[in-house]
Amino acid sequence: MNRSSNLDILKSNQDKIWDLVVVGGGSSGFGVALDALSRGLSVVVLDKSDFAKGTSSRSTKLLHGGVRYLAQGDILLVLEALKERGRLLANAPHLTNNQPFIIPIYSWFDRVQYSVGLKIYDWMAGKWRLGKSRFIGKSETINRLPQIKQGGLKGGVVYHDGQFDDARMIVALAQTCTEMGGCVLNYAKVTDLLKDENGTISGVRFVDQIDDNHLQVKSKMVVNATGVFADKILKMDNSGARKSIQPSQGIHLVFDQSFLGGKDALMIPKTSDGRVLFAVPWHGKLVVGTTDTLKDKPQLEPEALEKEIDFVLETAQAYLAKKPTRADVLSVFAGLRPLAAPKEDGAKTKEISRTHKVIVSDSKLVTITGGKWTTFRQMGEDTVKHFPKVTGISIQPSKSADIKLHGYVAKPEQGPLSVYGSDADHIRAMMKDKPELAERLHPDHPYTAAEVVWIVRNEMPAKLEDVLSRRFRVLLLDAKAAKAMAPKVARIMANEIGKDAEWISGQLADFEKVSSKYII
Ligand SMILES: Cc1cc2nc3c(=O)[nH]c(=O)nc-3n(C[C@H](O)[C@H](O)[C@H](O)COP(=O)(O)OP(=O)(O)OC[C@H]3O[C@@H](n4cnc5c(N)ncnc54)[C@H](O)[C@@H]3O)c2cc1C
Repeated sequence: MNRSSNLDILKSNQDKIWDLVVVGGGSSGFGVALDALSRGLSVVVLDKSDFAKGTSSRSTKLLHGGVRYLAQGDILLVLEALKERGRLLANAPHLTNNQPFIIPIYSWFDRVQYSVGLKIYDWMAGKWRLGKSRFIGKSETINRLPQIKQGGLKGGVVYHDGQFDDARMIVALAQTCTEMGGCVLNYAKVTDLLKDENGTISGVRFVDQIDDNHLQVKSKMVVNATGVFADKILKMDNSGARKSIQPSQGIHLVFDQSFLGGKDALMIPKTSDGRVLFAVPWHGKLVVGTTDTLKDKPQLEPEALEKEIDFVLETAQAYLAKKPTRADVLSVFAGLRPLAAPKEDGAKTKEISRTHKVIVSDSKLVTITGGKWTTFRQMGEDTVKHFPKVTGISIQPSKSADIKLHGYVAKPEQGPLSVYGSDADHIRAMMKDKPELAERLHPDHPYTAAEVVWIVRNEMPAKLEDVLSRRFRVLLLDAKAAKAMAPKVARIMANEIGKDAEWISGQLADFEKVSSKYII
C-alpha cells in the first residue's frame, strides 16, 4: 500500500469512470469499499486526513452486540451486531480477541437482572457466542478483579464480548482493499462534487493535502461516509440540505492496568447518571470510559471537557479500591459519535435502515450515517445494495462476510508484533538482517525501529502522528512516551522517505500540538 503509487494511479486516470468513490476512510467508508470490491466493483477511497483519524480510532475498542441496547429492547441491532462481531473475530483474529467482562453485583436484584439479561445475550449470539455468561461468587470476583470495591460486593456476572484494535483494523482493511484492486488515498480532501447536466452526481474533486495536487475522480456512484462531517458533503450537494448528524462526544482515560488488576474487563451497567462505564485492559493499559456529551460542530481532533474527565475519574474511583487520580492519567482521548439525527424530510431523502441510515439524495449521492464500528461490514453491504438503483447496473452478490483481512493468521501469536499478523515474520526478518533495527524506541514500550521502517514502506503513513497514533497506538496508551519517542521515529521516517531536517522539525512541532491534547 503505497501513497505515491496510488496518487499516480488517480493522476493518470483523470477520465476513467470508476464504479464507486467513497469519501471517508473510517469504518463506514471501508465497510462500503470492502463490500463493493467483494462484488467485483472498482473502488476509490479518499480521506481528507489519515485513515481512521476520525471517530474510528477513538472507540472503546469493543466488538459488541451492546448489552445496553439489549436493555433498551433494540433486539434487531443486537442480533446484527452479535453476528458481525463473530464474523470479524473469524476474519481478523490477529486484531481481535475474546474479552471476558465482569459486572460487579452489589444487590440480589442486580444478580437476577444481569444473569437473566446476559443469558438472553448468549442465546441471541447463537453460533457466534464467545463464552457462557455465569454468576461468580465474591471471592472469585475479587480474584479476577483485584482492585474492585469490596464493600457490599456479592459477586459478579461474567460475560464475553469482542475487543479489537480499531485504527490497526482500518490499516488492515485499507491493505485488503488495495489487494482486491481498490485505490485508497489518505490526505485527499474532497472539496466539490461533480455533476452531469441532469444534476446527477458523477464524481468528486479533491485536493492532495500533502503536495497540493488538485484532482478529480469520476464515478458511477459516490458514497458519503464522512461520519460527523456528513452534513458538509450533503451541503456540497444541496446547500439547503437539512442536518442529518448530531455529534455526541465520548472520552476515555487511560491508566496503568494495575488500577484494575487481572485480565478481565469491568462493566458498570448503570453509573450515577445512568450511563454505562467500561474499564478494559488494552495493549497492557486500562482504557476507561465513556461519556455522552452533545456537541454542535464536527471536529477532527475533539478535546475532552473538564466535566467529562471529572465524571470518568469519579466513577472509576467509586468502583476501584486503588483510586486513580488525574496524575495517573497516561492519556485522554475523545471521539465524536456520528449519531443519525431523527427522521429526514421524505421529499428529499429516503431512509432505508433502522440501525444505521442510508440516505439517497435527489442527485443520487448516497450517504451512510449512524451505526457502529462492530457493524461496519453490514453497513457497507446495505449501502452498496443501492448501486443498481443509483446506476441502473446490476451487481454480484456480496462476499464481504467471508473475506479474511490482510495479515490473517489462523492462530495469532501473542506479544508486541501480534497486530501485524502474517507480516510479523517480515518485521522479524528485517531485525535479523539489521540488528540495529531491533532497537526499542522507548524503554517502557515494545515498539522498534524495524516497525517504523515496515510501516513507512507498507502502511501509508504520511505524517509522524500517523505512526505514533494509529500504526503504533502509543499516543492513546501513553502520551508522554509518544512525545519522547517522536524525534527518533521522525528521523527514521525521514530517512526512509528522503526528507530533510526541516521536515523533521515541522513534524515534531505538529505532533507537539496534537499530543498536548492527550495529556492532562
Ligand atoms: C467514544 C466512542 C466510543 C465508541 N465505542 C465503540 C465501540 O466500542 N464499539 C463499536 O462498535 N462502536 C463504537 N463507537 C462507534 C464507532 O466508533 C463509530 O460508529 C465509527 O467509528 C464511525 O465511523 P465513520 O467511518 O462513520 O466515521 P469516522 O471514523 O469519523 O470517518 C469519517 C472520515 O471521513 C473523513 N472525511 C471527512 N470529510 C472529508 C472530506 N471532505 N473528504 C475526504 N474525507 C473526509 C474524515 O477524515 C474521517 O476519517 C464509539 C464511538 C465513540 C465516539
